[in-house]
Amino acid sequence: MDTDNLDFETCLEKAKAFHGGLCAGITLGTRMSILGLKAVGINDPKGQDRKNIIVFAETDRCVTDALLATTGCHPGKRTMKIFDYGKMAATFVNLKTGKAVRIVVKDKDRNKQLNNEQLEKPPHANVYAMIPDEDLFNITQVSVDLKPEDLPGKPLQIVICSVCGERIMDKREVYRNGSILCKPCADGGRYYTLVDPGQ
Ligand SMILES: [Zn+2]
Ligand SMILES: [Zn+2]
Repeated sequence: MDTDNLDFETCLEKAKAFHGGLCAGITLGTRMSILGLKAVGINDPKGQDRKNIIVFAETDRCVTDALLATTGCHPGKRTMKIFDYGKMAATFVNLKTGKAVRIVVKDKDRNKQLNNEQLEKPPHANVYAMIPDEDLFNITQVSVDLKPEDLPGKPLQIVICSVCGERIMDKREVYRNGSILCKPCADGGRYYTLVDPGQ
Protein backbone atom coordinates (compact mmCIF):
# COMPACT_ATOMS: atom_id res chain seq x y z
CA MET A 1 0.00 0.00 0.00
CA ASP A 2 1.34 3.40 -0.94
CA THR A 3 1.05 5.66 2.05
CA ASP A 4 3.58 8.28 0.90
CA ASN A 5 0.65 10.57 0.07
CA LEU A 6 -0.11 10.68 3.77
CA ASP A 7 3.35 11.43 5.10
CA PHE A 8 2.83 13.59 8.18
CA GLU A 9 5.55 16.19 7.57
CA THR A 10 4.50 16.68 3.95
CA CYS A 11 0.83 16.99 4.86
CA LEU A 12 1.61 19.36 7.71
CA GLU A 13 3.58 21.66 5.40
CA LYS A 14 0.67 21.79 2.95
CA ALA A 15 -1.88 22.45 5.69
CA LYS A 16 0.33 25.14 7.20
CA ALA A 17 0.69 26.85 3.81
CA PHE A 18 -3.05 26.69 3.16
CA HIS A 19 -3.93 28.03 6.62
CA GLY A 20 -1.24 30.72 6.61
CA GLY A 21 0.61 29.45 9.65
CA LEU A 22 1.17 26.60 12.04
CA CYS A 23 -1.05 26.23 15.10
CA ALA A 24 -2.39 23.49 17.34
CA GLY A 25 -5.50 23.12 15.17
CA ILE A 26 -3.46 22.59 12.01
CA THR A 27 -1.28 19.94 13.65
CA LEU A 28 -4.30 18.17 15.16
CA GLY A 29 -6.33 18.42 11.97
CA THR A 30 -3.51 17.01 9.89
CA ARG A 31 -3.07 14.07 12.25
CA MET A 32 -6.84 13.48 12.39
CA SER A 33 -6.97 13.43 8.60
CA ILE A 34 -4.15 10.91 8.23
CA LEU A 35 -5.56 8.70 10.97
CA GLY A 36 -9.10 8.88 9.59
CA LEU A 37 -8.18 8.31 5.96
CA LYS A 38 -6.03 5.29 6.78
CA ALA A 39 -8.73 3.89 9.08
CA VAL A 40 -11.25 3.82 6.23
CA GLY A 41 -8.75 2.51 3.70
CA ILE A 42 -8.03 5.70 1.76
CA ASN A 43 -4.35 6.19 0.89
CA ASP A 44 -4.46 8.55 -2.07
CA PRO A 45 -7.27 11.04 -1.29
CA LYS A 46 -6.22 13.58 -3.92
CA GLY A 47 -5.51 11.03 -6.63
CA GLN A 48 -6.90 7.55 -7.12
CA ASP A 49 -9.27 7.77 -4.15
CA ARG A 50 -10.50 11.31 -4.77
CA LYS A 51 -14.03 10.22 -5.64
CA ASN A 52 -14.26 7.79 -2.74
CA ILE A 53 -14.03 10.10 0.24
CA ILE A 54 -16.34 12.50 2.06
CA VAL A 55 -15.36 14.31 5.22
CA PHE A 56 -17.70 15.78 7.84
CA ALA A 57 -16.06 18.60 9.82
CA GLU A 58 -17.52 19.70 13.15
CA THR A 59 -15.98 23.15 13.52
CA ASP A 60 -15.41 26.22 11.39
CA ARG A 61 -11.94 26.71 12.86
CA CYS A 62 -8.31 25.83 12.09
CA VAL A 63 -8.82 22.06 12.22
CA THR A 64 -11.10 22.24 9.20
CA ASP A 65 -8.43 23.96 7.10
CA ALA A 66 -6.12 21.04 7.83
CA LEU A 67 -8.88 18.57 6.94
CA LEU A 68 -9.36 20.35 3.63
CA ALA A 69 -5.65 20.60 2.82
CA THR A 70 -4.88 16.98 3.75
CA THR A 71 -7.92 15.19 2.35
CA GLY A 72 -8.47 17.41 -0.70
CA CYS A 73 -12.17 17.42 0.21
CA HIS A 74 -13.91 20.77 0.07
CA PRO A 75 -17.44 22.18 0.29
CA GLY A 76 -17.65 23.34 -3.34
CA LYS A 77 -17.03 19.79 -4.46
CA ARG A 78 -19.61 18.54 -1.96
CA THR A 79 -16.98 16.27 -0.48
CA MET A 80 -16.78 18.22 2.77
CA LYS A 81 -19.80 18.93 4.93
CA ILE A 82 -19.31 21.42 7.73
CA PHE A 83 -21.47 21.10 10.82
CA ASP A 84 -20.69 24.00 13.08
CA TYR A 85 -20.85 22.13 16.38
CA GLY A 86 -17.76 23.87 17.74
CA LYS A 87 -16.02 20.52 18.19
CA MET A 88 -12.57 19.37 17.23
CA ALA A 89 -14.00 16.33 15.52
CA ALA A 90 -14.45 14.91 12.05
CA THR A 91 -15.89 11.88 10.31
CA PHE A 92 -14.27 10.21 7.32
CA VAL A 93 -16.44 8.16 4.98
CA ASN A 94 -15.18 5.76 2.33
CA LEU A 95 -17.93 5.98 -0.31
CA LYS A 96 -16.83 2.78 -1.99
CA THR A 97 -17.02 0.56 1.09
CA GLY A 98 -19.30 2.60 3.35
CA LYS A 99 -16.73 2.33 6.12
CA ALA A 100 -16.67 5.43 8.31
CA VAL A 101 -14.87 6.58 11.44
CA ARG A 102 -15.41 9.58 13.66
CA ILE A 103 -12.38 11.07 15.37
CA VAL A 104 -12.58 13.53 18.23
CA VAL A 105 -9.76 15.22 20.08
CA LYS A 106 -9.79 14.01 23.67
CA ASP A 107 -10.70 16.32 26.48
CA LYS A 108 -7.54 18.18 27.33
CA ASP A 109 -8.04 17.64 31.07
CA ARG A 110 -7.58 13.96 30.42
CA ASN A 111 -4.50 14.64 28.40
CA LYS A 112 -2.07 14.41 31.25
CA GLN A 113 1.00 14.85 29.11
CA LEU A 114 0.21 18.50 28.46
CA ASN A 115 -0.55 21.31 30.83
CA ASN A 116 -3.00 24.04 29.98
CA GLU A 117 -0.33 26.57 29.21
CA GLN A 118 1.17 24.39 26.52
CA LEU A 119 -2.25 23.75 25.06
CA GLU A 120 -3.17 27.39 24.64
CA LYS A 121 0.00 28.76 23.09
CA PRO A 122 0.64 28.42 19.36
CA PRO A 123 4.47 28.27 19.75
CA HIS A 124 3.96 24.90 21.41
CA ALA A 125 1.78 23.63 18.59
CA ASN A 126 4.32 20.99 17.62
CA VAL A 127 3.90 19.17 20.94
CA TYR A 128 0.79 17.75 19.29
CA ALA A 129 3.00 16.14 16.70
CA MET A 130 4.70 13.97 19.31
CA ILE A 131 1.85 12.56 21.40
CA PRO A 132 0.68 9.06 20.40
CA ASP A 133 -2.64 8.86 18.54
CA GLU A 134 -4.33 6.93 21.34
CA ASP A 135 -3.57 9.65 23.89
CA LEU A 136 -4.79 12.42 21.62
CA PHE A 137 -7.85 11.04 19.83
CA ASN A 138 -10.91 8.92 20.33
CA ILE A 139 -11.71 7.03 17.16
CA THR A 140 -14.99 5.17 16.69
CA GLN A 141 -16.60 3.30 13.83
CA VAL A 142 -19.79 5.01 12.72
CA SER A 143 -22.35 4.76 9.97
CA VAL A 144 -23.36 7.80 7.92
CA ASP A 145 -26.61 7.89 6.00
CA LEU A 146 -25.64 9.69 2.81
CA LYS A 147 -28.53 10.46 0.50
CA PRO A 148 -28.21 10.90 -3.28
CA GLU A 149 -28.89 14.64 -2.87
CA ASP A 150 -25.85 14.93 -0.57
CA LEU A 151 -23.38 13.49 -3.04
CA PRO A 152 -21.24 15.23 -5.69
CA GLY A 153 -22.90 15.81 -9.05
CA LYS A 154 -25.55 18.05 -10.54
CA PRO A 155 -28.43 19.18 -8.33
CA LEU A 156 -31.08 16.46 -8.37
CA GLN A 157 -33.88 18.93 -7.95
CA ILE A 158 -34.46 22.68 -7.94
CA VAL A 159 -37.70 24.14 -6.55
CA ILE A 160 -38.95 27.65 -5.72
CA CYS A 161 -39.86 28.78 -2.21
CA SER A 162 -43.52 29.85 -2.11
CA VAL A 163 -42.72 32.65 0.37
CA CYS A 164 -39.48 34.32 -0.75
CA GLY A 165 -39.46 33.12 -4.35
CA GLU A 166 -35.84 31.99 -4.19
CA ARG A 167 -34.50 28.82 -5.73
CA ILE A 168 -33.69 25.85 -3.51
CA MET A 169 -31.35 23.11 -4.69
CA ASP A 170 -30.69 19.59 -3.51
CA LYS A 171 -33.95 18.82 -1.71
CA ARG A 172 -33.25 21.26 1.10
CA GLU A 173 -36.85 22.52 0.93
CA VAL A 174 -39.58 21.93 3.49
CA TYR A 175 -43.16 20.95 2.64
CA ARG A 176 -45.84 22.55 4.78
CA ASN A 177 -49.59 22.36 4.17
CA GLY A 178 -48.90 21.51 0.57
CA SER A 179 -46.55 24.45 0.02
CA ILE A 180 -42.83 24.43 -0.67
CA LEU A 181 -40.77 26.58 1.68
CA CYS A 182 -37.06 27.19 2.10
CA LYS A 183 -35.76 26.38 5.58
CA PRO A 184 -35.38 30.03 6.72
CA CYS A 185 -38.94 30.85 5.61
CA ALA A 186 -40.23 27.69 7.27
CA ASP A 187 -38.67 28.19 10.68
CA GLY A 188 -37.94 31.94 10.63
CA GLY A 189 -34.37 31.28 11.69
CA ARG A 190 -32.31 33.53 9.49
CA TYR A 191 -28.70 34.35 10.22
CA TYR A 192 -29.25 37.84 8.76
CA THR A 193 -31.77 40.63 9.10
CA LEU A 194 -32.72 43.04 6.35
CA VAL A 195 -31.30 46.51 6.97
CA ASP A 196 -33.74 48.20 4.61
CA PRO A 197 -36.84 46.09 4.03
CA GLY A 198 -37.82 48.41 1.17
CA GLN A 199 -34.82 47.39 -0.93
ZN1 LIG B 1 -4.91 28.22 13.22
ZN1 LIG C 1 -38.09 31.20 1.31
